[in-house]
Amino acid sequence: MIVVLKQNPNREQLDSLIAWLQDKGITIHTSLGAAHTILGLVGDTSALDIDLIAALDIVEDVKRVQEPYKNANRKFHPEDTVVKVGSTQIGGGTLTIMAGPCSVESEEQVVAIAKAVKASGATMLRGGAFKPRTSPYSFQGLGATGLAYLKAAKEETGLPIVTELMDLSQLPLFKDVDVIQIGARNMQNFDLLKAVGRQEKPVMIKRGMSATYEEWLMSAEYVMAGGNENVILCERGIRTFEHLTRNTLDLQAIPVMKRLTHLPIIIDPSHAGGKNWLVDPMAQAAVAAGADGLQIEVHNDPARALCDGPQSLRPDAFDALAQKLLKLHECIRSING
Ligand code: PEP
Ligand code: MN
Repeated sequence: MIVVLKQNPNREQLDSLIAWLQDKGITIHTSLGAAHTILGLVGDTSALDIDLIAALDIVEDVKRVQEPYKNANRKFHPEDTVVKVGSTQIGGGTLTIMAGPCSVESEEQVVAIAKAVKASGATMLRGGAFKPRTSPYSFQGLGATGLAYLKAAKEETGLPIVTELMDLSQLPLFKDVDVIQIGARNMQNFDLLKAVGRQEKPVMIKRGMSATYEEWLMSAEYVMAGGNENVILCERGIRTFEHLTRNTLDLQAIPVMKRLTHLPIIIDPSHAGGKNWLVDPMAQAAVAAGADGLQIEVHNDPARALCDGPQSLRPDAFDALAQKLLKLHECIRSING
């Protein structure tokens, strides 16, 4: 349920409404807008008398929210969420470029790639230390050692780190990580979502390969229900009947998410197409469609990459793309205002 307040509501009446609702076990999410303040009511609101609340002096309107996601719902929070990460931010009109190898392979590798992508304009470093692989015989990532190499690259370049958490037990190792990535395969690992909801670091949730928009938003809701509102969504391609490409990039997820939620959305064209030549056009299309950022795999020697070489860009190709994306972003902003 949302309660839209009249302008400059009487403070005493507002406090008594809030106390009355809290007494009924309702959690209140307050959104201060330029024109109106909105109270988002989360909990069992079925017993609340909508007409009684609507009749209060300070209330302009009351609406039931049908969608099962509340905290993530744009109706609860009309303004876009901006997630602060170190000295940078995700959302709010900026273009975040996360770049780096699929997997951290060595300190030299990740430091060299971090320096290169930073020089090209990347604002965050990506790199997997814990890798979700389809085969148990494939490279599984360097684990804690990989996180230490990411930390070295962060110290060297100042780039914040985004990396995947696969299991609850790894969380204590993530002290120097700036954004926790929940991978597509773990999008509905509800215990993991609850755990990252109880801590403060921003969480980026990659869309499961067969997840609906609503299921994806319910995953965000799990994190937000735990108290962590710093959630970022990442579309990385969904599974369709098409086998020529690794997945199918769902670019309409951008306008759909912009409509349904206030959370920022990042596009990963690397895992979507699975081919290096698809990354440039799809990254440009994502910026044109209003994405808040991109996550792009970059490797110094894709032919020898331990994971996802065919979809990785060399640093020079990434540099050319990043320059185009930054220009395109300016252009799109000036067109759309
Ligand atoms: C990744 O970003 O390294 C990754 C494994 O992505 P996804 O979870 O989208 O497959
Ligand atoms: Mn990868």
